[in-house]
Parts: sequence; C-alpha cells; structure tokens
Amino acid sequence: MIRVRIAPSPTGLAHIGTAYTALFNYAFAKKNKGRFVVRIEDTDQKRHIKEAEKAIFEGLTWLGIDWDESVNTKGEYGPYRQSERLKLYDKKAKELLSRDLAYKDKGAVRFKNPGIEVVWDDLVKGKISFPGTEITDFVIIKSDGFPTYNFAVTIDDIEMKITHVIRGEEHVSNTPRQLALYKAFGVNPPFFAHHPTLRNKDHKKLSKRRDPVDIGIYKKQGYLPEALINFLALLGWSHPKGKEIFGLQEFIDNFSLERVRKSGPFFNIEKLDWLNGQYIKNMSDSELFHQLKIYLGEDYNLKMVEKTVPLVRDRIKNFSEYISLAGFFFEEPEAVKDLLGENARGHLEAAYQFLKGVKKWNRETINKGLLEVIATNEFHTGEFFMDLRIAVSGQKVTPPINESIALLGKDIITDRIKKLI
Ligand code: GLU
Repeated sequence: MIRVRIAPSPTGLAHIGTAYTALFNYAFAKKNKGRFVVRIEDTDQKRHIKEAEKAIFEGLTWLGIDWDESVNTKGEYGPYRQSERLKLYDKKAKELLSRDLAYKDKGAVRFKNPGIEVVWDDLVKGKISFPGTEITDFVIIKSDGFPTYNFAVTIDDIEMKITHVIRGEEHVSNTPRQLALYKAFGVNPPFFAHHPTLRNKDHKKLSKRRDPVDIGIYKKQGYLPEALINFLALLGWSHPKGKEIFGLQEFIDNFSLERVRKSGPFFNIEKLDWLNGQYIKNMSDSELFHQLKIYLGEDYNLKMVEKTVPLVRDRIKNFSEYISLAGFFFEEPEAVKDLLGENARGHLEAAYQFLKGVKKWNRETINKGLLEVIATNEFHTGEFFMDLRIAVSGQKVTPPINESIALLGKDIITDRIKKLI
C-alpha cells in the first residue's frame, strides 16, 4: 500500500508551503488509494511554538485536506509526534554505535559516512547524484539528546512504512544523508520526489517576513479554500487538458508526479485574486450569500447582505473586498465632504428635491428622475453621479449607483444627502 507523509515542524504559523506539499501528498495518496500521514516534527525544541501544531491542522482542515493518520487519529504507526519517539531514536543510535557505524563526539553522536557516491531516480527531478566526498560524518543525536532532522526523519519513514517521500526541493541536499542511513539499517529506501519550492516575485523562497505565508491570512481576507487549492495546484502542476479552473477531486483524478513542474513556480497573488474572482462569479446567488454569511458573521444585516449579492458578484475578488465595496449598505460613511467635487452642493440639492418626492422607490423611477434632474439643470452627468455616489457611499467606486440607492431606501438616502447640503 502506498503511504506518504508530510512532516511539518511547528515552528511558526501554518505555512502556505506546508499546504502546498500536503496537497501533492494528499492527491498522490487519494489517487493511489494509499494513506496520508501527518507527522509533527517537533524535535527542534528551541524553535517550537505551542500553537503552531493546532494552526497546521486547522489550516489543512480549512483547505479540505484530510489525513488518515496523525496525532489526533488512531494509527498503528504512532506516536506521530517526534518528541514522543525519543526512545526509539536513542535505541537506533545505540544500534549504529554498537555496529561501529557511529561514534560519540563531544556529547553528540555522529554517523560515520561511508563516503560513496549516492544516486537516486527522483520522481520529479530525474536522476540525481552526489559524490561521496560531499558528505561528511554528520550528527545524528545532538548533545541535548534530541535527534537531528536527518536521523529522525529516516527512522520515522522506515518505521511508518513510508513508500514515497514527496517534499520540497530544499531537501534534495539532505537526501544523500538519509540514503546513507537507509543503507546502514539495511532497509530499501522509499521513492523520492522533490517538488520545486514556492518563490515570490523576486524568485526568492517565500519568507515569513516578506510574503503572505500564513494560511490564516487567506481565510481572514476572504479567499475561498477551493480557489486557494486550485491556485496551489496550478503553481506546481499542469492539468493534462491545460485547464486553469478545477476542483480538488478533479486534481486528484488527474494527478501524477510526472506532471509536477520541474522548475520553481512563482507565487503570484494577482493570479489567486483572478481565480478567486472566477469562483465568486460562478456561484449561485444563494451560494455566494451563504459564503458571505460565514465570512461576515452575525454583525451584518443579513437581509441587506442577501440583496447586495447580485450587485457585488462581478466586482469583488475576495470577501474582504466586499466590506470595502459594500460597507456603506450597513454603516453611514465618514469623511464624505473631502471627496465631493466643487459643484456638489447644487448637484445634491437638486437630487434631494427630486428624491424626497419619489413615490415609487425603485431603480427605474430613480434613474429616470435623476436623468431629468441632470437635463433640467444642465449638469455634467459624470460629475453629478460622482457627487451623488460619494454622498451615498463615501467612496468613488461602488456597485451601480441607482441600484444602490434603490436598495438603501428613501429614508437613509435622503438623510445622507440632506446632511451635505
Ligand atoms: N520538517 C521538514 C519540513 O517541513 C520535513 C522535511 C521532510 O519532509 O523530510 O521541511
């Protein structure tokens, strides 16, 4: 049975790179009816952050990536936290010491590297080889008693019967050390597949300081998990039919390691915005309303939210944009005066006189009446509507203004305009 894993280190928030690697492992497992393991690599005690583990699971759950075995599920290969497996690493280190394949060095234990050439067929990158001279004797147990990454990862991948190691290319240089350990333990190594690392616009590895790497940010800004998954899939893989928009199941059905890109994908937020906007455009009114409800929570007048749905659908790329675009449906705008044009007073006065007398408050009546106001007064149409838009919303960009006026209702509209004249 195919068994894959991710081994995130809980050293920060849930990282988008973890989701990216998880997605490929998950798809590979699902496609091949295998199992997907999430193992927590928490042996770096100095950098360990308690909340990070929870954030990783929450991030994966939000994205719809589900695991078969981990710290919170039963599985025959646990425990799934490395800090709970220290005895095992100790035992394995002793075994190497007794076989003279390792030695003690200033409180640490070092593996004696045989110094022979290491070659493997990487399932993404093809044949990779490292000359034996490049790898020196390396530490497997640190002086604090904790295993190093290379040692723990190898022991765990052996013990957890991992068949395919699918991970970022930053680990290519670790692989020869791990392969040397497999050899020392007399175990056949798994297949390795190193996918390219996510890079930012400057072609640098995504960094916590510069780039939006925390999965939580995307949730907060109102991106859809489906769109983020689609985006991550597109970054590292190409659809056999060249499609750009596809769901997780379609990704799984079409997934193969051969189609994973060989060179560094570039993390382009504009592309994510475009994709997310497409997902929003393609939703039914009730779906979009449902999603907005989840995002906005209880503080918003939901009846009003529902009515704004058709007005905003083509104008927002994520749900935080809904708040900036449509916030004036829920709250009186501030600092409106600063934005108004020089003829605003006349425009608003005339608009007010007309609007307060409107009997049948709907888009058609309002539109027709306002055009008459413009004609009678010989106003500049663009300037007139801009002042009206600003008076009603406090902003220069809104959904169609006549529809917005119709939606907000006579009392609110006349009240907002009156305050400015
Ligand atoms: N903790 C490592 C990482 O998150 C795991 C690498 C591996 O998959 O072997 O990069």
